[in-house]
Amino acid sequence: MTRVNIAIMTYEGSNFNTYKGDVINVIPPQKAGKRAFAAGLTKGNGCPVNKNSFEFKIHKNIHVLGAASNATKMPKSEYSANIPAKARASAIVQQFNDLDPLTPSYQNTCDGIIGKDYGISASMTYKYNKVKNMILPVEGAGGTTAVNASAENQKRESHYAYGWYNNITQDIFA
Ligand SMILES: Cc1cc2nc3c(=O)[nH]c(=O)nc-3n(C[C@H](O)[C@H](O)[C@H](O)COP(=O)(O)OP(=O)(O)OC[C@H]3O[C@@H](n4cnc5c(N)ncnc54)[C@H](O)[C@@H]3O)c2cc1C
Repeated sequence: MTRVNIAIMTYEGSNFNTYKGDVINVIPPQKAGKRAFAAGLTKGNGCPVNKNSFEFKIHKNIHVLGAASNATKMPKSEYSANIPAKARASAIVQQFNDLDPLTPSYQNTCDGIIGKDYGISASMTYKYNKVKNMILPVEGAGGTTAVNASAENQKRESHYAYGWYNNITQDIFA
């Protein structure tokens, strides 16, 4: 998407065609900030980091987390920005104590509320793979809400989504 005209609800695609929508959900590029690019601190869309420590490859003892880092195959979500941040805090403490970083599991869940008592989600667990030197999905440790989920499961998913939102906002701002 290259341009949006809210007044007439149109957007221009990267092919320069114009499309019209009743609802247009604009997702900005999830990458490192302009200053990181301007300062030559990026490779591809983000800052290059060691995959098991998130330590910045260009400057030692600096850890780059969240959308700015290009460490993982995890989706660029708040969920997957938040958990590695905590894991890195733990790794920094390990480093201060001359210990190796632990190898945590990371979790990502994208929740959606699509109606009253109707939630859906897509979930996956990730772990650092030493051989491939990447954070990769753990086979069988994730999934999505079934299309024909029962009313009880839809309600439970909605409960989980609000639960996550309440927890993360408490965690960050409380
Ligand atoms: C429309 C939309 C919907 C989303 N929905 C979800 C969702 O439902 N669930 C979910 O888990 N994730 C969701 N995400 C993704 C989530 O918002 C991001 O993955 C997450 O915010 C990344 O966190 P971050 O801290 O790495 O970066 P950011 O949240 O982008 O934080 C970077 C901060 O740095 C500041 N900054 C930039 N440059 C400078 C500078 N030079 N000096 C000082 N400050 C600076 C910015 O203002 C910003 O506050 C959504 C994203 C979008 C765009």
